[in-house]
Amino acid sequence: MTKSAEELDAIVIGAGFSGIYMLHKLREMGLRTRVFEAGEGVGGAWYWNRYPGARCDSESYFYCFFFSDEILQEWTWSERFPAQPEIERYLNFVTDRLDLRKDMTFNSRVTSAVYDEETKRWTVEASTGEKATARYVVTAIGGLTSTATNLPNIPGIEDFKGEWYHTGNWPKEGVDFSGKRVGVIGTGSTGIQAVPEIAKTAKHLTVFQRTPAYIMPAKNHPLSEEYVEEVKANYPEIKEKVRSHWGGQPYDAPAYSFKEVSLDEAERLQEEYWNNGGLRVIQLFKEGTQDPATREFTENFFREKVRSIVKDPVKAEILEPKGYPMGAKRIALDTNYYETFNLPHVDVVNVKKTPITNFTETGVMVGGKEYPIDILVLATGYDAVTGPFRKMDIRGRGGIKLAERLEDGPRAYLGMSFAGFPNLLAISGPCNPALSTNVPASIEHDVEWIADLIEHCEKEGFAVVEPTQEAEDEWTEETQTKAVNSVFTEADSWQFGSNVPGKPRRFLIWLGGLHKFRERCKEVTDADYAGFKFTR
Ligand code: NAP
Repeated sequence: MTKSAEELDAIVIGAGFSGIYMLHKLREMGLRTRVFEAGEGVGGAWYWNRYPGARCDSESYFYCFFFSDEILQEWTWSERFPAQPEIERYLNFVTDRLDLRKDMTFNSRVTSAVYDEETKRWTVEASTGEKATARYVVTAIGGLTSTATNLPNIPGIEDFKGEWYHTGNWPKEGVDFSGKRVGVIGTGSTGIQAVPEIAKTAKHLTVFQRTPAYIMPAKNHPLSEEYVEEVKANYPEIKEKVRSHWGGQPYDAPAYSFKEVSLDEAERLQEEYWNNGGLRVIQLFKEGTQDPATREFTENFFREKVRSIVKDPVKAEILEPKGYPMGAKRIALDTNYYETFNLPHVDVVNVKKTPITNFTETGVMVGGKEYPIDILVLATGYDAVTGPFRKMDIRGRGGIKLAERLEDGPRAYLGMSFAGFPNLLAISGPCNPALSTNVPASIEHDVEWIADLIEHCEKEGFAVVEPTQEAEDEWTEETQTKAVNSVFTEADSWQFGSNVPGKPRRFLIWLGGLHKFRERCKEVTDADYAGFKFTR
């Protein structure tokens, strides 16, 4: 006998930062809500990304929820940049603190969500065969996720007889590299973190690099008790700064102008910022990476650093960032990445110059030469933002498929709603600023805005809310316009979708910054939810 579908008010898909807070908000409103989560536990990206070295690039004291003063005071971060296990522990702590687990179903990947125009309800089905219906569906699936990893379009992976793993789907039990010949493909934020850790135990490590990244030192360290106390005492101010900053970071605006300081002074300051580490390394000058002269100075500084750290000039030349302007691809943080290439058992191969042709049973072929490999690590990124939506069978009015609507590129109103998909709301969806910011800060905004919208429907007795086609078209176009003059146009990247063969080159992120996005969303609310249609 088949189990009948559970009848709910709301369904949330995913139990990462977004799903956890969304469930809390919906329960506060008294809505019967269930979260479906593919993993065995909470965490989302921080559940699946347990590859060696996985660590956050934002500082722990602001890579967290700000909605609860109690949680801010009760949780204590141990390091400047938290590692994956600590973030996973934090998200478990919040889940239990708010008693959310009882409304979460784990090991349950949502495969479809179908809207019924007569009943005005969604039916959601999971990989387990379980079904539930609800008036609202909120996607909390993230933009860089295990469901939509980007496997390199290199033939022969099925021939390879060794072990291979994508970093975004890392096995929970870990991988033992000791005594093995390891190959890493991909040198974005992920590969850069994994390489130094893998090198610690591997017998030999070959890094296959296509594009050299611009990399800054994290200068990670444990946090002292005094520092933690000071942060906790200042949380109200930090929260205000996070909410009013372009990138959702509580940093002050750059204090110096490149044009106004001497070259010697610029070098001294850049060195000082480099030694302090973190994302602030490139937030030194007011001109930022958009100004060619400032950028050239900073790019040369980075290249000089590589040459001074990496002793072998051949390796250094391969690793030096070049061929595209700094900032056109995401800048990464490292801990001992360049230093790792001074180890005799670690090599780097330039696969831009000579591309990988295929995998063999025993290794990787580059220019007719086989590199023997026992374990292959694919740090090759994601089919970002639209990818996770297109992996699910989401059908709105008249059976229209969201996967097809997103085929030609990202589209959504305010990066949170889709025309023709009533009561379907997306946290950090396509055309949203989240992935250009400190992500939890954007998530917190989206969750609160979506909760307000749902509350408005409940109070006013509206059964259905959806954006107009016109509003969605305009926001979609604005997203592209904002990217036109940005440095991102000057390289291929996941932000442009141009890392995935065949994906349309359309910018996936609204580039106005979190502070402006908050203002725009508030204007929409204040104008009686301009751009939305409500039906009773
Ligand atoms: P990514 O930035 O897309 O990097 C993928 C890497 O794989 C690139 O070096 C790419 O080279 C390479 N690659 C892809 N296909 C290849 C092929 N066929 N042959 C050779 N190389 C190939 O992915 P990611 O490193 O996983 O990072 C994705 C995003 O996740 C980051 O930008 C960041 O937003 C987030 N992230 C954050 C953290 C953190 O906070 N610490 C850590 C990890 C990731 P090309 O550049 O030439 O395409």
